[in-house]
Amino acid sequence: MTQFRPRGAVAPLRRPAARATTVDAAVAALRPEAPLHCLRPQAVTAAARAFVAAFPGDVLYAVKCNAEPTMLRAVAAGGVAHFDCASEAEVRVVRSMFPDAEIHFMHPVKSRAAIRAAWTQFGVRDFVLDTDSELTKILEETGSQDRGLVVRLALPKGSAAYDLSGKFGAAPEEAAALLRAARPHAARLGLSFHVGSQCLDPAAWTRALALAAEVIGAAGVAVEIVDVGGGFPVAYPGSEPPPLAAFMEAIRAGAALLPEGVRLWAEPGRALVAGGASVVVQVQCRRGDALYVNDGVYGALSDAGAPGFRFPHRLLRLDGAASEVTRAFTLFGPTCDSADVMRGPWMLPADVREGDWIEVGQLGAYGTALRTAFNGFDHALVTEVTDSPMLATPGYEAAAARAA
Ligand SMILES: *Cc1c(COP(=O)(O)O)cnc(C)c1O
Repeated sequence: MTQFRPRGAVAPLRRPAARATTVDAAVAALRPEAPLHCLRPQAVTAAARAFVAAFPGDVLYAVKCNAEPTMLRAVAAGGVAHFDCASEAEVRVVRSMFPDAEIHFMHPVKSRAAIRAAWTQFGVRDFVLDTDSELTKILEETGSQDRGLVVRLALPKGSAAYDLSGKFGAAPEEAAALLRAARPHAARLGLSFHVGSQCLDPAAWTRALALAAEVIGAAGVAVEIVDVGGGFPVAYPGSEPPPLAAFMEAIRAGAALLPEGVRLWAEPGRALVAGGASVVVQVQCRRGDALYVNDGVYGALSDAGAPGFRFPHRLLRLDGAASEVTRAFTLFGPTCDSADVMRGPWMLPADVREGDWIEVGQLGAYGTALRTAFNGFDHALVTEVTDSPMLATPGYEAAAARAA
């Protein structure tokens, strides 16, 4: 099997011999002392299938969100035949698994070597850009036959959990000029944007599409594709997004402003894979309201650190029942860095103790993908389960409010 990470960088997830079909059974069989990643590929396939059915255009999976082969296969099984890659390594792994997939190179700043390899070795034909110099690079490193060029438009600061407006994208006038400059060199010309990750407001897409329509009008050239990016949200404790249909309605409303015949693309990451994994961590030490666990912000729980995401969670104890009284805990990860803290709050039985396990849900997105080998804590196990995605933590909001 192709390994996404260079050998030696981060230990690959280890598959234990014991097989189990539920998280509870896996924990009982393995009594895991390393973080245990519980994959739910069928949940990813279902989410991908639902998105493909709802979206009025082509669906490109944003590979960076989770590039594990099991997840890539699950996304493809849901009907996704396009992949949004941002590096040569991502392009390589997708091509090795899916010889017929359409791969789109959607990072606005690429090395010449990556562009060249994508074009010549891996059959990538679509490239994004947000500057004149990137356009020059792409034109110099690719052939002219069937070349697709997509201009990334910057959006005003929005309402997403992760704002992406500061780093990439051309301002509207620049984007119009880039469309004009790219037009003679493109078999397909597109305009793309990203409203920001975990964006809870469907109207953000309508506004962005209205701006895209203005830019296309100002450019005065034909555009074949508008790419509405990723950012589609999922549920986390205390954050319940509107249903997917509301986002699709907002996109249809915005798309009505575009010139006739424009094809839509979307680049969902989080929305397809978040429910596809949970991670079971073990409590190694309790000190008052602080729990020291075996995974943290340098592992799969990066977003629970500084970004402050709250993840659904529950206690697993094999020998006896836990207290029915819950209270708020802070989690510390295993590294020696004081930034390795996840404030939650984590609502857990008041008598949680060393040796207990905690299942943390919704980690299929930006969990596995962000693991590092810092401090040597990269050893983790992986197994597949048939449980439904782990969503809400029952009573979380009330309990967290009482604790605050
Ligand atoms: C990260 C990223 C995505 C996926 O974003 P999600 O919020 O996970 O849906 C899509 N497109 C681009 C260009 C990205 O950088």
